[in-house]
Amino acid sequence: MTVEFVCENCDKDVMRDLANGAESGECPHCGREYPIELSASMLQGGKVDRCVLCRRDKFYVQKDFNPRLGILIFAIGVAFSYHTYGLTLVIATIIDFILYKVLKTVTICYHCRAIYRDFEEDPEDRGFDHELAMSLVMKDKRKQEQEKTVA
Ligand SMILES: [Zn+2]
Ligand SMILES: [Zn+2]
Repeated sequence: MTVEFVCENCDKDVMRDLANGAESGECPHCGREYPIELSASMLQGGKVDRCVLCRRDKFYVQKDFNPRLGILIFAIGVAFSYHTYGLTLVIATIIDFILYKVLKTVTICYHCRAIYRDFEEDPEDRGFDHELAMSLVMKDKRKQEQEKTVA
């Protein structure tokens, strides 16, 4: 069980192992501290029900597939397709398809884009929903404005 996120201080990728429960997440690049807090379900490797970083509870799932790798394989297929009469193109498409099939899904936080791996999949989590993402952003904005007017 891991969480991966981009450090807001130095913009580098940070990967943290969550198998040993809650530990303080420190960016190995710049040392910025992230207080990591696992929910009861997540401590047991269950569903991701609360983001350990931003404490929000809205997630979407996605195949753990590097899109650049897919494009690279396809580009190689295209580059050689002229000499192989399109055969490499077919092979590249098949490789992409197989990769997509065997790869696991990851759970991603709508709010802070933290990526969770090796947790139980929540059947209620769907692929990225633009409308939901927008409504969450709007909700945040409204909340901020309300806080401003109160202050
Ligand atoms: Zn950092
Ligand atoms: Zn989050």
